[in-house]
Amino acid sequence: MNILVINCGSSSLKYQLINSETGDVLAKGLCERIGIDGSCLTHTPAGKDKVVIKEEMPDHNKAVKMVIDALTDENHGVVKSLSEIGAVGHRVVHGGEKFNKAVLIDEGVLKDIEELSSLAPLHNPANIIGINACKENMPTTPQVAVFDTAFHQTMPKKAYLYGLPYEYYEKYKVRRYGFHGTSHDFVSKHAAEMIGKDRKDLKIIVCHLGNGASVSAVKNGECVDTSMGLTPLEGLMMGTRSGDMDPAIMEYICKQENLTASEMNTVLNKKSGVYGLSNYTSSDFRDLGEAAEAGNTYAKDALDTYSYRVAKYIGAYMMAMGGVDIIAFTAGIGENNYQVRRGVCDYLEGMGIAIDDEKLKIRGEDLIVSKEGSKIQVMIVPTNEELAIAQQTLALL
Ligand code: ADP
Repeated sequence: MNILVINCGSSSLKYQLINSETGDVLAKGLCERIGIDGSCLTHTPAGKDKVVIKEEMPDHNKAVKMVIDALTDENHGVVKSLSEIGAVGHRVVHGGEKFNKAVLIDEGVLKDIEELSSLAPLHNPANIIGINACKENMPTTPQVAVFDTAFHQTMPKKAYLYGLPYEYYEKYKVRRYGFHGTSHDFVSKHAAEMIGKDRKDLKIIVCHLGNGASVSAVKNGECVDTSMGLTPLEGLMMGTRSGDMDPAIMEYICKQENLTASEMNTVLNKKSGVYGLSNYTSSDFRDLGEAAEAGNTYAKDALDTYSYRVAKYIGAYMMAMGGVDIIAFTAGIGENNYQVRRGVCDYLEGMGIAIDDEKLKIRGEDLIVSKEGSKIQVMIVPTNEELAIAQQTLALL
């Protein structure tokens, strides 16, 4: 069955049409600047050149119409009609405590996602707009919500509670939720398959290192801890997000720089992480690597701090699970960036895990990089969140 996977932001919409049996991507694309002047759709059919369609998209409804037109177009389309799209799988960021797996969307589910918007004010409303636009344009096609938080719902209380007044949890649901769940689920499953085992019998640490980054501890197939929290700001230092820090820094800097709490929140989300720490050199790890090699000490410090923090989480999760069988690197940096992987593996070697440095340099493919005979397997496992969403959508139908 062909499944349309939708990842909707407030002014953008990414899509992939996937044959869920073979995993083949038939076409993918991106609508940009929805509701802003100069909107455009970039559509790439498999094996063909991309097509850029510049047309105003005043809202997401128009964007979805254009996506359907592109997918069914005589020249650059990949299906004859809408009837060849069996279902739509939507990436939904926050499922709160309500959703521990993907669900078929009905009015009740939509209402629940809306109610969870207070926990993800930037994301859930955009996801709802995407769902409604698809419902409008494809009224008879089943729509499925796949939540970023769902995989982490198996965490025990001791992992998800914060050291705050309990009433905040009861009144406002302040707790750790975790994100990138679809990726942690997909990668932990696939990592186990790579050594011919079932993840039910393994302890796995997944390091999802992209612009946003998180680590998870997956024990016997279930997530038992993860580094992101109520929001994606907690945990690892990221491209532009601070990750863990002393919460008292908030008030201190607000006073020093005369900022409001909301302005400080923007600093922590958009101007911090390796970007801020490298003295605004870049949030992109390729730039940082080049800058560090050219002698930029801010960039070098940012990279060192980044790897150190990933290693610290690995150590913590080994303790949480009573050991580890597999440590998997994934996402843009985890799959491609030798410097960061090398930095983290230095700490692993300090614990006696032997790494094949030549393999560690290889980019973007399934690969075991620990040396043969190693008790702990270190791996590179490219993630594929869209395929995972398509598979979960299919499973529900
Ligand atoms: P997002 O969270 O936006 O999906 P990605 O998973 O695409 O992020 O990761 C983006 C990061 O991956 C960037 O910092 C980028 O520098 C890094 N990256 C991507 N490709 C490479 C590469 N070939 N070499 C080194 N770093 C890379």
